[in-house]
Formats: sequence, C-alpha cells, structure tokens
Amino acid sequence: MIHWNRIKRVALDFIFPNRCPYCGKIIGSKEKVCAPCLEILPRIEKPTCKVCGRGVAFCRCHRSYAFDRCVAPFYYEGNARNGLILFKFRGWLKNAVVFAEEMAQVVRREYGNSSSDVIVYVPMTKHAVRKRGYNQSKLLAEELSKQLEIPILTDGLIKCKELNPQHMVGMRERWSNVMGAFCVENEELICGKRVLLVDDVMTTGATLDQCARMLKQAGARSVRCAVFASTSPQRLVKPIKVAYNIADAPVKRTAPVAQQRG
Ligand SMILES: [Zn+2]
Ligand SMILES: [Zn+2]
Repeated sequence: MIHWNRIKRVALDFIFPNRCPYCGKIIGSKEKVCAPCLEILPRIEKPTCKVCGRGVAFCRCHRSYAFDRCVAPFYYEGNARNGLILFKFRGWLKNAVVFAEEMAQVVRREYGNSSSDVIVYVPMTKHAVRKRGYNQSKLLAEELSKQLEIPILTDGLIKCKELNPQHMVGMRERWSNVMGAFCVENEELICGKRVLLVDDVMTTGATLDQCARMLKQAGARSVRCAVFASTSPQRLVKPIKVAYNIADAPVKRTAPVAQQRG
C-alpha cells in the first residue's frame, strides 16, 4: 500500500510538479519556495512603523486611519509581487498556504498569539467573485484562520457597491472611490470583538480604512490588519534597489517624514 502511494505521488509530481509560488520554477515536492526566491524576497525589516507596518523610511501615514495597525511580511515588489499576480490573476490558489504562513508569522510576532477574536476579510461583490472565480483575500483569510486558530467570519463585511477597481484610479481618488462601498450586515457578530482584517495588498490604506470604519461603527473593539504585501514608494525604492529599511537607506533619499506612532 505504501509502495502504491509512493508511485502515485511520483506520478502526480510528474504531471503536476510542485512549483515555487513566487517565480513558478519547478521545485522538489517537499520544498515550499525555491532557494533564489527565498534570498531575494523583499521582506519588510525593522524598524517598522507601528501604524502602517512599513519600514519607517517608507512609511506613508499621512492621515490617521480607522484601523489600529497593519502588518505585512513583504513589500509589493519583485518576486513577492510576481507571486501575488500568479495567485490573484492566474489562479495559483495553492499560493495562499505559503503566503498565509508568512502573514501568520508577522501577526504572531507583532500582535501576539491571542490578539484577535475573529478574522474578517475584505470582500468583493458577487459579480466580481463570479468573474474571477474566487476572492483572493478570503482564501488568505481561510488559511490564516487555520494557522492562527482564529475563527473566520464569512461575510463579516459585504461589498455593497461595485467600484472602479482601486488600481485603476489615482492615489487621491482611492479615498473617495471606496466611500460607502462596504457594510456590516450582522452587527451583533462584530460588536465587542477584536477583529483581524485581512487583505492581499495595502497601497494607500483607503480600502482597509473604510472597512475598519464600518467594523468600528458596528462596535468592533479593535481592528488590526494583516496583508500579504504593502506597496512602497516606487521613486524611493527603484534607485536604491534593496535598501528597504532605514538603516540601509541613503540619507538623501529617505522619505519626507518618517512617522512612528505608538
Ligand atoms: Zn522561486
Ligand atoms: Zn506608517
């Protein structure tokens, strides 16, 4: 029986080889990530902003958010961005497992083990889910729920209206674009809870802010966010390549004001 299972596994590996979730290269069946990708993943390193979760040199907290904090394992750059595109637009759903492991690590480190009562994810409209076939944030939230052993609240937030996709509108318009887009249907499921809000990417923070606003209006005690990747200012990152934290960043090119709030 064991022998048969081994044959089956070899055959399956041959037909559906295990691939690196970030670059797509074939890797061993027990490997999670290829060695070159592991080396160059754009990890967010300390010191980090206690609000947006980016390295302090890349903090973009220009306003106060409705959420309490956000954390992410990576910047939305290089192979982390590539992996997310495979996951979000090419149907590489298995990537959710590896991505959620990275998110779970940073959640445990920054928020502690029992810091949330319930996981809520950023919703898509039914039409958008039908079109893509899945909501990538829900898949990440489901994996996080298993790994952190925190219950997930399906449909904790509902997307009440279809918007122009956030990546299609300008940075300033993103804030007005999401207004009134999300709602909480069952306030009693949120009231008094410490919510872990999950999304795939944080850019301006407008989407997370609007979702957190609705959750707090419904009585959430706290809203902490976890995303897979956070964008960093392109103008800043490109010329200095991999200098992601303040210790590495050249003095002349650090962000205008690096804010760190408690
Ligand atoms: Zn790789
Ligand atoms: Zn910040």
